[in-house]
Amino acid sequence: MTAAAVIASKGDALERYEAVIGIEIHCQLKTVSKMFCGCSTEFDGAEPNSHCCPVCLGLPGVLPTINKSAVEWVIATGFAIEATIAQTTRWDRKNYFYPDLPKGYQISQYQLPLAAKGRLTFDTSDGPFTVRINRAHLEEDTGRLIHAELGGRRVSLIDFNRSGMPLMEIVTEPDIRTGEQARRYAEELRLLMRTIGASDAEMENGQMRVEANVSIRLRGREAFGTRVEVKNMNSMRAVERAIAFEIERQAVAIDAGETIHLETRGWDEARQSTYHMRPKEEENDYRYFPEPDLPPLLTSPEWLAQIKARLPELPAAVRTRYQEELGLSAYDATVLVSDAASKALFEQTLAVADGVPAKLIANWVTGECMRLAKGESGSAGQVYPAELAILLKLVGDGAISGTNAKEVLAEHYTSGGRVATIIESRGFHQISDAGTLDTAIDQVLAANPAAVADYKAGKGAAVGFLVGQVMKATRGQANAALVQTALHEHLDKAD
Ligand SMILES: [Zn+2]
Repeated sequence: MTAAAVIASKGDALERYEAVIGIEIHCQLKTVSKMFCGCSTEFDGAEPNSHCCPVCLGLPGVLPTINKSAVEWVIATGFAIEATIAQTTRWDRKNYFYPDLPKGYQISQYQLPLAAKGRLTFDTSDGPFTVRINRAHLEEDTGRLIHAELGGRRVSLIDFNRSGMPLMEIVTEPDIRTGEQARRYAEELRLLMRTIGASDAEMENGQMRVEANVSIRLRGREAFGTRVEVKNMNSMRAVERAIAFEIERQAVAIDAGETIHLETRGWDEARQSTYHMRPKEEENDYRYFPEPDLPPLLTSPEWLAQIKARLPELPAAVRTRYQEELGLSAYDATVLVSDAASKALFEQTLAVADGVPAKLIANWVTGECMRLAKGESGSAGQVYPAELAILLKLVGDGAISGTNAKEVLAEHYTSGGRVATIIESRGFHQISDAGTLDTAIDQVLAANPAAVADYKAGKGAAVGFLVGQVMKATRGQANAALVQTALHEHLDKAD
C-alpha cells in the first residue's frame, strides 16, 4: 500500500475503528556490573568485545550470579508504579537462536515477575489517563550486531560488550487507544526511571527501547484484531507517529479486504512509515523453562521496606504539591517536574527567596531560564539560585522592569556576575517614586497637547502613546504599571 492511500483514509478510520495498544519498554538499569557477571557496564566508547567474560559470552560450564542492585531497581520501580512485589520469584530460560545471543537462550522472568499489577497515571490533551501495568521483570540484554562492509564484502560483526547488561522490561495492559497516550505513557515512565535513578533512559542510545503492539477493531466490538509489533522508534515523537501511522495502515488494509498478519514492523524515520521486518514469534515458540543454574529469589519484608524507604518523592506527588501547596498551575508544575535542572533551580531559588511568590519564580524558571539553558542566547552559562532570588525580589517589588530584568538575567547567565553589580553598571533601577513619576508625566502632557485632546475626545488609544512617551523620557526606567495608573489620574483631573 502506498503512503498516499494511507493519507486518503485519514480522519475517517478512527471514527469506525478503535485502536488497542499495549506498550513494552526495556530499560537498561544503572548498575556498576552486568546482570550475571562482574563485567563493568561502563563500555560506552570502549573497544568492541573489551567488556566480556566467559559468563556474558555464554561459554559452556560457567555459572551466573544475580546482581542485587539490578533486582533492587526493579523492586523500586515496582513500588513507584504501585505494583505488587513478588515474595518469591524465579528465573526462566527464553530459548531462541540469534547471533547476538551467545547462549542460545536469554535468562528472563516468565511466570513469576518481580513486580505485577501496577499502574501509571499521566496527563494527556484529553485530561488524566491511567494505564494498567501487567508486569515489570528483569532479564539480560543481548550483544549488538553491526552490519558493515569489510574489504568490499558485506559482513555482520558482533560486539558482546552489551551482552548480559541488566534490562528491565515493563509491559502494559492493552489500555492505550492513541499514539499520543502511548507517547505520554513512555514520557512519564522515562521521568519515573530518572527520578528514582534506575536508568538514564536515553532513547537515542538504546538505554530505553519502546515497542508497541497495535491492533484495531470496529468500534463496539469486544474481540481484539490481529496485533502487529512496532519497533525501532528512537524518539518520543517517533512513538506517537509510528503508532498513528500503523492504526491508519491497518484500517486501510482491512477496508480493502486484506488480512492483518502477526508480524514485527520497524519504523522508518526518513519515510515516516512502518515496514515489514519479520513474522512475530508466538510465546510458545520460546520454550520457556525454569533456569536450573539460579535458585529462586526470595524478597523479605525487611528488604522491601528498605528499598521503599529509599524512594525519592515521585513526579506525580511533586506536581500535586506544587499545585496544592505553592499555587502553581498544572502547566507550570508539569514543565518544572519534567526537567531535573529546572526543578532544582526552582526549589533552590524558592528556598532562599524572601517573600517572592512561588508563581513568579516558576514563571521565570520555565520561561527565561529554560530559554537560556537551551542555548538560545548562543552561549553556555548558569543561573545561580541566590542571584535569581535577588533579581525576582526586585521584579516583585517593582524596582526593576521585566524587560530590564531579562537583560540582567542573560548577562548573569553568561558572565556569572552578581545581579546587583549588573543592575548598578547598567543603571537599571526602576523609578517607582511617585514624585519623580508625577514630574515626568506633567512634562509629557505639557509637550503633547494633541494626544491629551484626543484622550478628552474619547480616544483611549492616546494613553498608550503617552505611556510610551513617559517611558522614553525616563529612558525605560519608569515602572510602566504605575505610569499607566498615574497618567489616567493626571488626565482625568486635568479638566
Ligand atoms: Zn561478563
